[in-house]
Amino acid sequence: MPTQRLRLTVRGRVQGVGFRPFVWRTAQAQGLSGFVHNTGEGVTIELQGSSSQLAAFRHQLQHDLPPLAQIDSLQQSLLDPLPEAGPFEIRDSSGGITHARLPADSATCPACLNELFTRGDRRYRYPFINCTDCGPRYTVTHRLPYDRANTSMLPFLLCPECRSEYQSPHSRRFHAEPTACPNCGPQLQLTDRFGEPLKGDPVHGAWQILQMGRSIAMKGLGGFHLVCDATSAEAVARLRQLKHRPGKPLAVMALNIDSVRAFCEVSPAEAAWLLRPERPIVLLQKKAGADQLLPDIAPGIGCIGVMLPYTPLQWLLFYQALGRPEGHDWRRQPCERIWVMTSANLSGEPIVTSNQEARERLNQVADVFLLHNRSIVTRCDDSVLALQAGQPLFYRRARGFVPDPLPLAADGPDVLALGAYLKNTVSVLRGTQAFVSQHVGDLDHPLSCEALEQTAQHLLDLTGVVPQAIACDLQPDSFSSQLAQQWSQRLGIPLLPVQHYRYRSP
Ligand SMILES: [Zn+2]
Ligand SMILES: [Zn+2]
Repeated sequence: MPTQRLRLTVRGRVQGVGFRPFVWRTAQAQGLSGFVHNTGEGVTIELQGSSSQLAAFRHQLQHDLPPLAQIDSLQQSLLDPLPEAGPFEIRDSSGGITHARLPADSATCPACLNELFTRGDRRYRYPFINCTDCGPRYTVTHRLPYDRANTSMLPFLLCPECRSEYQSPHSRRFHAEPTACPNCGPQLQLTDRFGEPLKGDPVHGAWQILQMGRSIAMKGLGGFHLVCDATSAEAVARLRQLKHRPGKPLAVMALNIDSVRAFCEVSPAEAAWLLRPERPIVLLQKKAGADQLLPDIAPGIGCIGVMLPYTPLQWLLFYQALGRPEGHDWRRQPCERIWVMTSANLSGEPIVTSNQEARERLNQVADVFLLHNRSIVTRCDDSVLALQAGQPLFYRRARGFVPDPLPLAADGPDVLALGAYLKNTVSVLRGTQAFVSQHVGDLDHPLSCEALEQTAQHLLDLTGVVPQAIACDLQPDSFSSQLAQQWSQRLGIPLLPVQHYRYRSP
């Protein structure tokens, strides 16, 4: 059979998600030669072999992708075969960031959970376990290219074991930029509200506080959560009083779908959304008795915002509450522990992200602080959605979904849009893609205005876009419009005021 050589240019979510080792393993299994590398376009693959070997590779590329990878476009061209082709290899990255895409944060994968709860595993109970199939991405990355040096994992030097996994295409942690272990990675710390470290195991200590009906401020992926026992009327009332949030609904976290069914209806479609790696908060219909089981969680309304654990630390809190059971069955069994898991902020302010900020702003709200020393680069609230006729209706599109772009119908100039006064988000248009930022919030607080500026700059850094125009709300006196005017003058580019809503007569 004649030898062919093929070049594939793959665009989409193909960097930082285990795509190159997948290509390497697939090409090797088919006996193909050639190479794969990251480029500014995405990933380029060159393959040499028979037409049946190439067809088998293409089939696997379409059907067996790693869980977080996503192909937007695939271009192919035929090349002249090389006279001598060695074994298939992974080559170093090259090029800029023209079309590269940073992945969103993703819930801990089943393989990492198995390690997390296997006694004797070197990452047993390690709260920062991750791999190329899961873990933090957007919230730890300063800029592209997506390399460890450009993330908040920079201060943590890989130990020899982690380095060997990082360098091996056989490993799930090949180029897993945030990979770590207890010997070389971030560490937890439990402190009191004055910042004094508390002795003993931090997760055990946090669980003891929750058992006493008190609340903890817990550092998550895109910001802090305030956590208390959602089944305790006293604990919830106390949290509401301290947070000055008397009536608004609070989101809760349950261990698994069967645990949620104790208080809410869960359709198959809702279960699928709860379990997705993006782990959004899903608004679910209350069952009879929900208000007795979860007193004052969502007073006066028919639904509750529910999510499942998505960080190793959240999993560890359930594991601790259950008495660190043997084996893995407990992860699938109904569990009565339900936590309030609400964004840690004071009314009108953005979610708190740094340890110091947490101590300064939350010391009247939380009894203890479950902290760690991996910085959150960009704040990102939990996403919130409800299903309507099986389709997601987003109330807030943030963690897990940002920075995945939305496709546009037509190509156009690169534009930065700074959003409206209420429920602000930033957008960057790049070709046929719109990168919509996480929810920034209402611009009636100086910290939200600061967050808008940071979010806009971060999104430009991650997309590599130099805007040709700036769009803003037609209303000239909102902070976002004023910032747009300043930036348009500074960059010497046109300002495009847009009326973003209109009144309809009833
Ligand atoms: Zn994983
Ligand atoms: Zn290590």
